[in-house]
Amino acid sequence: AAVQEALTGDHRLFAVTQRENVDAPSGETLYSVGTVVQIVQTHRMRSGLQVVIQGENRAQALAYSAEHEGALHATLLDMERLTPRNPKDPIFQALDRELRERAVELGTRRGVPNEALSQLIGGIDEPGPFSDLVAYYLELATEEKQRLLEMLDDEGRMRECLLAVERELARMDAQEEIKAQVQSELGERQREMHLREQLRAIQKELGEDEEKDDIEDIRARIRALDLGEEPRIEVDRELRRLERTSPQSAEYQVIRTFLEWVTELPWQERTEEKIDLQLAETILEEDHHGLADVKDRVLEFLAVKKLQSDRSAARDETDAKGSTGHGPILLFVGPPGVGKTSIAQSIARALGRKYVRISLGGARDEADIRGHRRTYVGAMPGRIIQGMRQAGSKNPVFLLDEVDKLGVSFQGDPSAGLLEVLDPAQNSTFVDHYLGIPFDLSEVLFIATANYLDRIPGPLLDRMERVDFAGYTEAEKLQIAKRYLLPRQRKENGLTDEELQMDDQAVLAIVQNYTREAGVRQLERELGKFARKIARRIAGDKLASIKAGGADVRELLGRPRVHPERMAEEDIAGVATGMFYTPMGGDIMFVEASIMPGEGRLVLTGQLGDVMKESARAALSYAKSHWRSLGIPEDALNQREVHIHVPAGAIPKDGPSAGITMATALVSALTARKVRREVAMTGELTLTGRVLPIGGVKEKVLGAIRAGIREIILPFANDADLEDIPEDVRAVISFHLAETLDDVLKVALAEEEHQEQAPETGFHEQAMSH
Ligand code: ADP
Repeated sequence: AAVQEALTGDHRLFAVTQRENVDAPSGETLYSVGTVVQIVQTHRMRSGLQVVIQGENRAQALAYSAEHEGALHATLLDMERLTPRNPKDPIFQALDRELRERAVELGTRRGVPNEALSQLIGGIDEPGPFSDLVAYYLELATEEKQRLLEMLDDEGRMRECLLAVERELARMDAQEEIKAQVQSELGERQREMHLREQLRAIQKELGEDEEKDDIEDIRARIRALDLGEEPRIEVDRELRRLERTSPQSAEYQVIRTFLEWVTELPWQERTEEKIDLQLAETILEEDHHGLADVKDRVLEFLAVKKLQSDRSAARDETDAKGSTGHGPILLFVGPPGVGKTSIAQSIARALGRKYVRISLGGARDEADIRGHRRTYVGAMPGRIIQGMRQAGSKNPVFLLDEVDKLGVSFQGDPSAGLLEVLDPAQNSTFVDHYLGIPFDLSEVLFIATANYLDRIPGPLLDRMERVDFAGYTEAEKLQIAKRYLLPRQRKENGLTDEELQMDDQAVLAIVQNYTREAGVRQLERELGKFARKIARRIAGDKLASIKAGGADVRELLGRPRVHPERMAEEDIAGVATGMFYTPMGGDIMFVEASIMPGEGRLVLTGQLGDVMKESARAALSYAKSHWRSLGIPEDALNQREVHIHVPAGAIPKDGPSAGITMATALVSALTARKVRREVAMTGELTLTGRVLPIGGVKEKVLGAIRAGIREIILPFANDADLEDIPEDVRAVISFHLAETLDDVLKVALAEEEHQEQAPETGFHEQAMSH
């Protein structure tokens, strides 16, 4: 009604705010100060009228009339704003500028587009009305806005507005900060949740998701162990430490690994020992061909053990430990592949014990035997404790392979640790550095192996009882191949007995032409290779079976790889046949001596070791001092030098056993008497011409036979060794036992050309008749 009325008049209205929100406002419920406005636009709509008004100035209603035809009327007093006395006052101007800037900032923060903002703000130059505009946009309570409206003082109102703007900006800052904080907190939490989820997934993958269960599990396993009192205390302490440690820490893993080791050791588990000598003999025979001495020695050893354990059981029925007595420790010495390991396995089988083997080759410091302390990064128990875990019983047969390959380094001598392991007085409380608690090794049956006796540390050797393994003869190798190696290789290559048959010639062809060894390892490998080729043939050509002979070997395995020395073609002056021995087996070698013009020097060539050089010098000295009895021409060495050469320089040779061979070559060269090619010899020579005993007789003899030799000179003192020579070998060889170099020369040197006679071998006869 008021708008209608105004539209018929000057289009002006008095706009005033209600003090209280009531439906029928009257003078009482209206503020008195309001704004005189001009109606700029009207817009009639279905629900009523939309009006755009523009404020003109403030006014105060001095009195309101009662309602008349739906409109209120008021008597107004115009109110003038109080503008500053000096609008150019810098403080006032600064206030104006500050208000404008902050207002723009507020507008921007509220998201008002820049353009609209500059239009709005740029449209009002006058500071007072500008503050009214700002006040209009401020988020203030009605009373607050009314208060600003009623403030006539421009400057005061501008200050109030600026304050309100600042307050609002501050509130927005705070709001934003809180929002950001909440956001980031939310984000952090989300990130953490995400990471935890991943961690859980990883732990699950690793099977570590339930640490509690893990500890419980270990505790249960440890409780079940029959540990001694002292170990129990230590282990319990570690267990408590584990509970206090974060499962994520490295420490946790260290402790856990230790406890794991403890639970996996055989503290009380043992296999029941039954020493049945009859059974043991059967098993040893079953598993091995030949080796009669070794088997005897092992059976004796077991017999002693049986007696000891029977006695101690009878003496002390209540001895729960079932002590098996501390027999000596067996040491198997011999070249590779002669069955040392395999006999040890048979002993375990015969005793019903577990079997473990550790190699000591390359063990260079004590930690290899006894482990590193746990404080070491990546510490581990030593090889002994590792072996015990593997055995899973406290009384296994424990093979210490290659004790002669123990090294010594600056980190300590591994043999010291080993000594303690083997000492019956100490090994019931063997302390590995890693475990740090005593472990009982007293029921372990230790067996050691070595290739060379002289490389075993003395104190260790004293603890052990030596059993010698010699090499095999060709006949023995043939039997071993036929009975053990070939059947095994057939099986490994999926062949039946019928599919691959080899005659003796074929096996011997492999033995002679493709292997050079004292044992049978290489032989087994070659048989395996042969079997594979046969398998391929049978599969490819659909053959039913193959009966292999010597020719097949040559065809399938290719050119022979082994070319043993053969007996010399003819008797030559200055060339004598010696014998030597390596882990590969025995063989013959030639020693060549020649005399040439020179200054009396002795020249030695052919990779001779120091000991061998010494014996060459000794031989020369002997020849010089006994020239007359040896039949050497008096002036043979005048203006001459002697050259001794041992061919096959690729093989380093050493040892004193070539002494008589070198002397023979030398005397032969000096006297121009030929050496008989069918004779091979070995023996150490003293300066007085005595022949001293040497080692490796069996190997050397076997090697000489392979080379075609049929007569052999050995030191007299090696007489006993002849018993080791198999019957079939003795049948084809003539042995001469020499006490002095004269004895040697009598056999070795050919008769003078003019006396066409068989050599004189009357002294000492043959070994067999000796
Ligand atoms: P070493 O320990 O002396 O080096 P191994 O015991 O490993 O030798 O023997 C090598 C292979 O030869 C094994 O397969 C073993 O069974 C076999 N072997 C050695 N000697 C005999 C034998 N007398 N009878 C049967 N097989 C043997």
